[in-house]
Amino acid sequence: MANVSFLAVSSELGKELPKCWPEDSGDLSSILVLGGGSRPYVFLTARVHPGESNASWVMKGTLEFLVSSDPIAELLRKCFIFKIVPMLNPDGVIHGNLRCSLSGDDLNRQWLTPSSQLHPTIYHAKGLLYYLRSIGRAPLVFCDYHGHSQKKNVFLYGCSIKETLWQAGCMVDTAVVTEDVGYRTLPKILDKVAPAFVMNSCSFLVEKSRASTARVVVWKEMGVLRSYTMESTYCSCSHGLYRGLQLGTKELEEMGSKFCLGLLILHLKSLPCSKELMAQAALLLDLEEEITDRAQRCNLFIFHTVSRVRSASGKARN
Ligand SMILES: [Zn+2]
Repeated sequence: MANVSFLAVSSELGKELPKCWPEDSGDLSSILVLGGGSRPYVFLTARVHPGESNASWVMKGTLEFLVSSDPIAELLRKCFIFKIVPMLNPDGVIHGNLRCSLSGDDLNRQWLTPSSQLHPTIYHAKGLLYYLRSIGRAPLVFCDYHGHSQKKNVFLYGCSIKETLWQAGCMVDTAVVTEDVGYRTLPKILDKVAPAFVMNSCSFLVEKSRASTARVVVWKEMGVLRSYTMESTYCSCSHGLYRGLQLGTKELEEMGSKFCLGLLILHLKSLPCSKELMAQAALLLDLEEEITDRAQRCNLFIFHTVSRVRSASGKARN
C-alpha cells in the first residue's frame, strides 16, 4: 500500500504545531512541516477519485503558490496553517482505477464510519480533523478538490440547512431557522478573482445520498461552516473569460493559486485583522487586481485575435 503525503504549510514555527498530530498517525507519513503558529487552519485534500486527474493539477497550483516567494503567499502563510493531503487515494491512482480504492470502495462515501484497515487515508484524515476540533481549532475552511465529468466551469458544493429546506419544499418555516451565511463568502470571492470559477454553478444542498462525503461529514460532525467540494470541469466553461473553451493544465493550476488568493480575501472579510496586516494586504490586493486586469485584457486580446484568425481561415476553406 502506498504512503500518503501529508503537508503542513505556514510561517514561523509555533508552539501548537508539534501537538497537532493524532496519536496514531498511521499512513499519514512523508510529513513536511514548513512552519506553524497560532492562527486558523485550512484543511485541503484532493484526488480521492483516481480518475479525476484535473483535481491534482488544481492542487499543484495551490501547493506551488503557497510555497512560493509571492508576497501574497508569504502573507497567507502568516495568516493560516495549511494542512494538506494532496492525494487521498494513491493506490487507486497507481492501479489506474477510475473511482475506487484497492478495497473496491468509493472513499468519498466512507467518511461517516471509515475503517482503519479498508480506508486508512480517510480514517486518519478524519482523525486529524477530530483532533483539531478537540483542541478548539476546527478549520476555518475545509475543501476537497474533485473533477466533474458533466457540469461545466469550476464551482463549489457546500452545505446549508436553509437552502436544503427551501429546495425540498419543506413545510418547516425557514424564517425561524438561524444560519450563518458565511459559507457563501468564499465562492462569491472566487467568482471575482478566478476566471474559471462560476458562483451560479455552485450548490449548497445537503442530499441524503451525499451524507458520507467529506464535505457533509466535516460540516456536520466537526461543525465547519465552510466545508466544500471543489469541482473542476472536464468539459469546458460556459461563462467568463474561458467561455466555450476547455480548461488546460495552466488554467487548472491558475485555479489552485486563485483559491489561495480567495482565502486571503476571506480572512480579511471574516476575521479580525491587525492594521498592519490589513494595510499590507490592501496594497498587495490592489496590485493583484491590476495584474489580473492586465492579464485578462491581454488574454482577451489573444483570444479575440485567435478567433478572428480562425474564422478568417474557416471562411477561406469554405
Ligand atoms: Zn470526485
